[in-house]
Amino acid sequence: TKAKPAHKRILLKLSGEALMGDDAFGINRATIERIVGEIAEVTHMGVQVAVVIGGGNIFRGVAGGSVGMDRATADYMGMLATVMNALALADAMNKNGLTARVMSAIAIEQVVEPYVRPKALQYLEEGKVVVFAAGTGNPFFTTDTAAALRGAEIGAELVLKATKVDGVYTADPHKDPSATRYAHITFDEAMSRNLGIMDATAFALCRDQKLPIKVFSIFKPGALKNVVMGGDEGTLVHV
Ligand code: UDP
Repeated sequence: TKAKPAHKRILLKLSGEALMGDDAFGINRATIERIVGEIAEVTHMGVQVAVVIGGGNIFRGVAGGSVGMDRATADYMGMLATVMNALALADAMNKNGLTARVMSAIAIEQVVEPYVRPKALQYLEEGKVVVFAAGTGNPFFTTDTAAALRGAEIGAELVLKATKVDGVYTADPHKDPSATRYAHITFDEAMSRNLGIMDATAFALCRDQKLPIKVFSIFKPGALKNVVMGGDEGTLVHV
């Protein structure tokens, strides 16, 4: 018999930088297709997948081109950047046999539909991949916080934080060869060790809602599937 996934509904947080590949800026087509391939694999196993996409590959409210700008204005630009990424991601999904729907936290209805929770839940039940754009819709927040928020709202069993490194390590594995990966760690321990898994708001929201976070590498082929199957992959942060 075929092994059953360990999770029915997941929230995947992809940073904007994940879409960059080895480029210095923007969206790398080959990279996006690779990520979509990984998502397709778990979707075809019957797992309901929602994605929160970042915008850091295009614009960030707190760095680069935003220096000297009004913070709230810069943050709105950052949120609009996530809408661009969401469009690219959904387009690649639709071309790869998935059905994707983008929902925005900011009204921009000629481009994408607004976020409406029951509708998002309906899409997920129908096997569509929902891409949440524009973060929380509020300046001074991040897409990590949007991931925690949407994850809690849709009743995701797990927030998957996709990173370049395949989990949380005792030290930076690129600098310290003796660094080891935590297979799992509690929210409290991660906090006391200052591990910086997500920003403080996102972290607190997940902890309050008892919503576990899995840190894993989106660039490791099969890792997403392994996480969904409940395998020893990445680092699980739990209560
Ligand atoms: N942003 C915001 N509110 C949100 C989510 C994002 O203002 O709820 C803005 C903020 O300026 C941020 C930018 O959008 O710098 C891009 O998001 P983020 O930095 O989280 O993207 P990532 O680092 O995941 O690529």
